[in-house]
Amino acid sequence: MLADPLLPFRDQPATSAILLDVDGTLAPIAAHPALSLVPPPTLAIVARLVERFVVVACVSGRSAREAARLVPVAGVGFIGNHGLEALEGERLRYADGVEAWLPIVSAAAQAVTPIASEVGAWVEDKGATLSIHLREAPDPAAARAVLVARAAPLIVAAGLRWRLGRMTLEARPPIAADKGTAIAALLGRHAEVRRSLYAGDDLTDLDGFRVVDVAVAVGSDETPPELLSAASLVVSGTTGLVDLLVSLTDSG
Ligand SMILES: [Mg+2]
Repeated sequence: MLADPLLPFRDQPATSAILLDVDGTLAPIAAHPALSLVPPPTLAIVARLVERFVVVACVSGRSAREAARLVPVAGVGFIGNHGLEALEGERLRYADGVEAWLPIVSAAAQAVTPIASEVGAWVEDKGATLSIHLREAPDPAAARAVLVARAAPLIVAAGLRWRLGRMTLEARPPIAADKGTAIAALLGRHAEVRRSLYAGDDLTDLDGFRVVDVAVAVGSDETPPELLSAASLVVSGTTGLVDLLVSLTDSG
């Protein structure tokens, strides 16, 4: 029988880090990001994790401030915009080079808005990145194809990079920072950390999976197969993740 990869986390929380994506991981997927909510019992479990583990942080594609609004738990760290920014107390810190791109991201968000509107998608300007959301489009697959054909070239012309998520097209500056580099930097500031766990549900979470010891995929019928194959553990939906987090708060 294989050893339980969570056992060392349970036994030695003072040297263990717990890193969590927000949407689709702590918060069930909602039709619109503004409707997303982390259920209060989940927030209570996160608070228990903070009491026990040396590092607990949320690592989100949302802006760090938005992630902090969704997870209002003292002691949690926040990495936002897929690793391009972090909230340290009240201070927002951008990864190196990001600030010069803020006006370019904002202009690109405006440039792609008419195309997104045509197909029933909408654009979220998140400061350091932008997201085009497809979930509410009448035909998300067709909308995605139009955006790839017509919005992506505008994004590229602005000097930005783009990639597809489950129901999004994301654009960001060409800066070598992602969820993985941001997690690695965070862990690098905590010399006492001996092991780390990251849980996520989408393609950008693969970057996080690469730098931790235990990668947890939050599975659903939308889960990208790449995520499942890269994971050390797969849980069933946000409720499955809650069960896993509860098990981490039980001392061995
Ligand atoms: Mg997610």
